[in-house]
Amino acid sequence: MHRFYVPADRISGDQVSFEAGQRRQMRSVLRLRPGDLVAVLDGSGREYIVQIEILDDTQALGRILEAAEPAVESSVHLTLVQGLPKGERTDLILQKCTEIGVADFLIAETARSVPRIQAGKMHSRLERWRAIAREAAEQSGRTHLPTVNGVIPLADALSRTRNSDARIIAWEEEKGPSLSSILPRLAGAGRIAYFVGPEGGFTAEEIAAARADGIAVVSLGPRILRTETAAIVGAALVIYGLER
Ligand code: SAH
Repeated sequence: MHRFYVPADRISGDQVSFEAGQRRQMRSVLRLRPGDLVAVLDGSGREYIVQIEILDDTQALGRILEAAEPAVESSVHLTLVQGLPKGERTDLILQKCTEIGVADFLIAETARSVPRIQAGKMHSRLERWRAIAREAAEQSGRTHLPTVNGVIPLADALSRTRNSDARIIAWEEEKGPSLSSILPRLAGAGRIAYFVGPEGGFTAEEIAAARADGIAVVSLGPRILRTETAAIVGAALVIYGLER
């Protein structure tokens, strides 16, 4: 069954009103018709089975037949702080990490982030990133829609994650503790923030600032991973390693 995210204010009683983009997708791409069933998520943790009642040029309306609360979300609330990488890499990171179960994304501008997104383009970039996270959430049946925020300076990402139970930063030059070796210490932590650098990595100054802020610096092993691999693998290790 196709899944659609709908903001809570589009559900009233048992009626669901889909936005124009979803209406077009239902009609032209999925070729759905009145009477067909779709799954609807509203970010509240509930999932609804909805029967389409009206689907035409101007509106798409459905009626809720059934509500359920599937246990899909991880007990680990993981925030990925991703150093802004080049080009399309952020898209892949958002898509895969949403599937894995990341709760929030903070995109951070670091000393070695190459692309500076022009102020005028920031809004459309964020919209695009949020659409990617939403599609991945629909595809993977997430009942919580991950938030995507940015692009903020790394220093702001440090302060915005201070309320986490644990914070970890992956550094390719770290020879000490590995991510997997510190996982047992994180058992029971509800909110975790995981920092990954851009292609150029973090500078020694950035790592020193993170350490001074109480963040655990970890290795992902002797091989250097691309930034997108480090994000996906690290998120998977934390979530699968700790979720109850
Ligand atoms: N340009 C650097 C590599 C950066 S990799 C170099 O060639 O040395 C991009 C990011 O992925 C890093 O900043 C780090 O956060 C993470 N990363 C990749 N491989 C890692 C490893 N083996 N250990 C810890 N972090 C790693």
